[in-house]
Amino acid sequence: MIEPINSKNEPVTIIEPDTSAVPALFDSPHSGSNYPADFNTVLDHKLLRRAEDAFVDELFLAAPGFGGSLIAARFPRAYVDPNRSNLDIDPTIVEGWDSAAEPSEKSRSGKGLIWTHLNGDTPLYNRELTANEIKKRIDNYWIPYHCSVENSLNALHQKFGHFYHINCHSMRARGNTFDPDGEAERCDFVISDHEGKSSSPEFLNLVTSYLSSAGFKVAINDPYKGAELTRRYSDPKTGRHSLQIEINRRLYMDEINIERSANFNDLRTHLTNLVKTICIFAKT
Ligand SMILES: [Zn+2]
Repeated sequence: MIEPINSKNEPVTIIEPDTSAVPALFDSPHSGSNYPADFNTVLDHKLLRRAEDAFVDELFLAAPGFGGSLIAARFPRAYVDPNRSNLDIDPTIVEGWDSAAEPSEKSRSGKGLIWTHLNGDTPLYNRELTANEIKKRIDNYWIPYHCSVENSLNALHQKFGHFYHINCHSMRARGNTFDPDGEAERCDFVISDHEGKSSSPEFLNLVTSYLSSAGFKVAINDPYKGAELTRRYSDPKTGRHSLQIEINRRLYMDEINIERSANFNDLRTHLTNLVKTICIFAKT
């Protein structure tokens, strides 16, 4: 577990490089497990924890040792999801919502900015959400997370003229009928660049080649294309490169009990080598 720099109540942990900085930033928006007291959900805690990308921050903990920065959310994504637009809200389910809203398909399936259902069919609430509580979640958690990522990326771009950003996630070993890939067995990694819009092909190739040569099965943009954090700050033609990485949870954890498996350290060694490769690439 990454220890927060300031206090356990901070919504975001930022770990700066402990050696000469390189323009590489790793962020883990979904590994947080500090559940706010005002969540007020009816869902069983252990079930709720299955929405987390548990331990993903730990898998990338080597980044500061190679000059990269690491940012991790401390709050859970089911409370408010930093990998969604702050407008991805279904106003019809929020009492008194009078602000802008642009609900996407994700909101309609219960996984928008504010999750209302787990795995498409299990409700998180037996009450109506209020505009006031949603606005508090955005102000106190979503905005601080995005400020951390945006400010760090802008600082790297200003100093180096470019940045390489890896947005880090994990995925269930297989989905369900509500997922784009149904119940099919998933491969080891999915790397996404919004079909070429968020990264240079060279950076994409660096990451996919490294993982393939380490013996992993890697898919590109299938079934995931990337989401808000890789879309919002990327612009390859001005040196702003963002990739999303999804790690199959069966490679490192017990999905039911939310525990590290015996393979955890082996996978972390592979990812430490990947982080090192990215940091060397970013420097040149
Ligand atoms: Zn995730």
